[in-house]
Amino acid sequence: MHNDIKEVLISEEEIAQKCKELGKQLAEEYDGRFPLAIGVLKGAMPFMSDILRRIEIPLEMDFMDVSSYGGGTTSSGEVKIVKDLDTKVEGRDLLIIEDIIDSGLTLSYLIDLFKYRKANSIKIVTLLDKPAGRTAAIKADMVGFEVPNEFVVGYGLDYDEIYRNLPYIGVLKPEVYSEKLK
Ligand code: 5GP
Ligand code: MG
Ligand code: MG
Repeated sequence: MHNDIKEVLISEEEIAQKCKELGKQLAEEYDGRFPLAIGVLKGAMPFMSDILRRIEIPLEMDFMDVSSYGGGTTSSGEVKIVKDLDTKVEGRDLLIIEDIIDSGLTLSYLIDLFKYRKANSIKIVTLLDKPAGRTAAIKADMVGFEVPNEFVVGYGLDYDEIYRNLPYIGVLKPEVYSEKLK
């Protein structure tokens, strides 16, 4: 285990098993519909890579990068598009792939945007759900794991752009935050 991690909440094996289960369900659901899978950068990258290889049907993938103003560990609700899709969403069945839903403000913005662009259907699959943080009325169609109201890192999730490459989901030692504040 990495020295800055206090506790592993979800192991590499648990994540792999979950990707297999969710992928199988999604393959059944989207069979014959040629969905457009949309990964929200950068956090969803490992999850997207693993889950898509478990959805064994023809599909397309694209990426969106959004940032919310405000910084720190909370989001402000004002979302800015950093990288837009290359693909037209009009008439498409969209599967949004997220790392975590906290306040729900990022997804709320994306859903409004994709509705405005006339998507045929929109579903959300998120690896993690933190229901305690919710301020927008957003519910994922599929959730890998529910997590407590703690700041988690690993498997795509960062603290100050670090730890995204850890293969598990963990909680940082408190001294890691205080070091950064010095
Ligand atoms: P929301 O808009 O739902 O509040 O969350 C948007 C983004 O905030 C997530 O996609 C994620 O990048 C970040 N975020 C929310 N909770 C956590 C957390 O516990 N750890 C990390 N590393 N990022 C989080
Ligand atoms: Mg995200
Ligand atoms: Mg982040």
